[in-house]
Formats: sequence, structure tokens, C-alpha cells
Amino acid sequence: MSETKKIAVIGAGPAGLTAAYELAKKGYSVDVYEASSEVGGLSKTIDLWNQKVDLGPHRFFSNDTKVNELWLEVVGKDYRMVDRLTRIYYKKKFYYYPLKPFDALKKLGLGTAFVCVMSYMKERIFPVKKNGSFETWVIGRFGYKLFSIFFKTYSEKLWGISCQELDEDFAAQRIKKLSLFKAVWNALFSGGKTKHKTLVDQFAYPLQGTGMVYERMEKFVNEHGGKVHLNTAIKKVNCKNGTVNSIQLADGTVQEFDHVISSMPITHLVNNMDEVPEEVIEANSSLKFRNTILVYLKIEGQDVFPDNWLYVHANDLQMGRITNFCNWVPEINQGEKSTIVVAEYWAYEQDKLWQSSSEELIELGKKELRKTGLIKDLEISQGHVVKIPKCYPVYARGYKEPLKKVEQHLTKISGLSVIGRYGAFKYNNQDHSILMGLLAAENIAENKNNNLWEINTDYEDYQEKSTITESGLNKE
Ligand SMILES: Cc1cc2nc3c(=O)[nH]c(=O)nc-3n(C[C@H](O)[C@H](O)[C@H](O)COP(=O)(O)OP(=O)(O)OC[C@H]3O[C@@H](n4cnc5c(N)ncnc54)[C@H](O)[C@@H]3O)c2cc1C
Repeated sequence: MSETKKIAVIGAGPAGLTAAYELAKKGYSVDVYEASSEVGGLSKTIDLWNQKVDLGPHRFFSNDTKVNELWLEVVGKDYRMVDRLTRIYYKKKFYYYPLKPFDALKKLGLGTAFVCVMSYMKERIFPVKKNGSFETWVIGRFGYKLFSIFFKTYSEKLWGISCQELDEDFAAQRIKKLSLFKAVWNALFSGGKTKHKTLVDQFAYPLQGTGMVYERMEKFVNEHGGKVHLNTAIKKVNCKNGTVNSIQLADGTVQEFDHVISSMPITHLVNNMDEVPEEVIEANSSLKFRNTILVYLKIEGQDVFPDNWLYVHANDLQMGRITNFCNWVPEINQGEKSTIVVAEYWAYEQDKLWQSSSEELIELGKKELRKTGLIKDLEISQGHVVKIPKCYPVYARGYKEPLKKVEQHLTKISGLSVIGRYGAFKYNNQDHSILMGLLAAENIAENKNNNLWEINTDYEDYQEKSTITESGLNKE
């Protein structure tokens, strides 16, 4: 029996914990090493001012039956369906997102709407020359005017580079097959019941926050022969002659394993490995991440504004997104009379914003939130800052080539599986990371040959489809 194989998982986020959970189910005793004091990674839920909050908005959504079945297996009946309400804040107005044509038309004004239609038509007749950038991809789909209103400022805030420098993969992955025609068709004729992934209008949310899923997985692993080691950062994965044999903890201890599943940053993994060719080291060093700053603010009031989250396109505000946790499920508010809102900012290490103190960031958050008019004159009684390094893998134009080199090198190493958002340098949502963990476990336990690098690119297009509803799984 291969159950005797010694397996280590690095990182207790959705990817790592899913792999460990699946292996524990199949009888393996897995060791999970997590650098921080809690599980969940970017999808953890934290306690703040006697309420539960996530690290920004965390809507779980998948069409993949395997992923949905697993999620339901862990969550059981402890979830509610949430009616999504998200808007875009632009030029002091709030636009429904997904766009509602008549609402958008009214708010943009006839003149701007006319320019949008004309620039869309121009695009159909004289298409922009594609150069692989996000900018030309979106203009090709929607026309320049809509790009400039609904894509440019937000994307440039998020990535910190111009839309010309941003790879079209970002659009292809996130906007996918959505065309203007389809968006308008959905808005007008499907009664809002669209199935496009970026536009779903209902989602399942755990009663104790998104992190509940991963806290339960941790418990399961610990109760089924495995061990989740918190506060235990991994420095290095050791290999000899192309085969993994052990890991080195940050304190220098070495522990032997037959297989290592890594979801720690790919750059860290490769930088600290032996036998890495110079050109792979060079390629690895060109992969960049964008950091996130979360400014939580406690508002003394309830029913402050109705959205789950809002996208801030206004370019006089540095914040990019605002989440109101009171509008998710009532359980996370825990009967408090106040509302917790989080404002998101994005930065690179060298940026002044990243280096600002918590006090400065709270002041900025307060000032900008007030400027939106969302909280009227309600008191903001407290602030709290969380800084997350390496939050977004930056799909800068040309990133695929160095990533491929790193991927090809790592694929050759026997006994190593590389998964996760910064683990595999993929702009993953929870569902993608869960799927990676699931398939990594299948590769080990069932001797399968799933290509983990394909996930969040082509993979999901040919899987069995389903959605989670109030009464459970709905297979299509
Ligand atoms: C602001 C924000 C909003 C988001 N919104 C959504 C959303 O609406 N829907 C959605 O599905 N997803 C959302 N996501 C994405 C989601 O959080 C991630 O896709 C998911 O958490 C990735 O899981 P992962 O396991 O791949 O990586 P992570 O969650 O990053 O977990 C990696 C883990 O590895 C640990 N680690 C790192 N280095 C080491 C080391 N050397 N040794 C040991 N452990 C280490 C980390 O501490 C971490 O716990 C959002 C993310 C952010 C930041």
C-alpha cells in the first residue's frame, strides 16, 4: 500500500489543505506546514471587534462538480445563499455591476452612451491591432470608450502597471467569453439569471466566514492521522539527482519525505532549491507579485449601504474596492450594532503606500471612504490594517515565457507537486486552488497524471458542470 509514502504539504491555504484533506480521507498521514498562526491563507476569516471578517470579499463560486461536491462535503448545511449586489463607483455615481443597460445609460448620460456605442461600432469595422496586452484585448471586445470607463482605472490601480503592459491573459482568464453583446443580452433577456462566471448573482457563503471551510479541513486532517503544524515556515525543499528527499524548516531542522506538495511562493521555492540551472533562476526572478493593504473601518451604524462589495473606478481615490461584511450573512456580524467595512489598496514593496504606517493608512481609508458618500456622516470609531505581501501574481506582458521555464524545470523533479495561487503563479480564486489540491492528491493516491499547471487556463472548460444552490448541488 502506498499509504506508507511520507507526504509533506507546504501551506495551509485552500490548495494545501485540500490536498491534505483528500489524502487524509484516503488513509495517508500528511504533515502540513504553515508559516502563520492560522489556516486559510488568503481565504482565512479573522475575528475583529467581535465580528468575523474575511481578507476582502470572498465569494466562493465554481461550476466544477468535483469542487462543489467537496465544498458541500466540508460545509454541510452551514451556508446560506447570498444575493450578490456589487456596484462600480465612478464619477460620483454608482453603476450596477453586472451592468444594467438602462441604469448605465441613465448615469452615463446620452452623450457618453452615444460615444460608447460609436466606439464599439468603430471597433467592429476597424478593429484595434492586437499586441497581446489587456488593453487591446478589452478594446477589441468592448470598444475604447467602455474600456476607459469600466476597465482602465481599476486594472491600473490593481496591477500598478499600464493596461498596455498587462498581459491579455488576465482578461482572457477573468472576462473570458463575455462579449458586450452577451452582457447586454443577459441584462435584457435572461432576467439577470446569467451563468457567466464573472457575473453570477447568487453565491453560497459559509455561516462562519469563508475561512470556516479551511478550519474544518484542518480539524479533519488532525483527526485522521495527519498534523497541521502552525507557525512553521519552510525554508527549502531538498532534492538530489532530480528527486525530492526532504524539507528544511526555517529553524534549520530537516525532515525526510517521499513527496512534497508546495503552495508557498514559487519564487521562494525555486530560489532556495539546489540544482537549479542559471537560466531558470533568472526566469524565476522576473516573476513579480503585487501586495494588498486592507484597511478595516468600524462604522457606528447598520444598513450603511447595500452592496457586498464595490469597485472603485474613480481615479481621485487610491482605494480599489470596498467590502461591507454586514451584507454577507448575518451570522458573521454576531449581533453587533456596528458595521465593518474594508477598503483595499494595492502596492509594490517600494511604494510609499506600502511603507505607510497603520495610522496613516487608517486616516487615508477614513478620508476616502467618506468622500464616496457611502457612509454619510456616520462615526468611524476604529481602524485596523492588514498588509498582505505577494497577493497577486502579476501577469505583465511576457510573463509566460519565464514562467514556462520555471514550470518545465519543476515538472522534471520527481516527488514534487506545485500548486496554489502564488505557489504556481496563477491568478487563482478559491475554486481553482481547491481543484489544484484535489488533483494533486489524486496524482499521488490514484497514480493519476493530472496536469496541475493547466488549471485556471483550459481545464475548467471541459469538466462536468454544476452549481451550489440553497438545497445542495444542482447538476447541469
Ligand atoms: C482581497 C482578496 C479578495 C479575494 N476574493 C476572492 C473571491 O471573491 N473569491 C475567491 O474564490 N477567491 C478570492 N480571493 C482569492 C483566494 O483568497 C485565493 O485564491 C486562495 O486563498 C488561494 O489559495 P492558496 O492555497 O493557493 O494560497 P494562499 O491562500 O495564499 O495560501 C498559501 C499558504 O501558504 C503559507 N505559506 C507561504 N509560505 C510558506 C512557507 N515558506 N512555509 C509554510 N507556509 C507558507 C501561507 O501562510 C498561506 O497560508 C481573494 C483574494 C484576495 C487577496
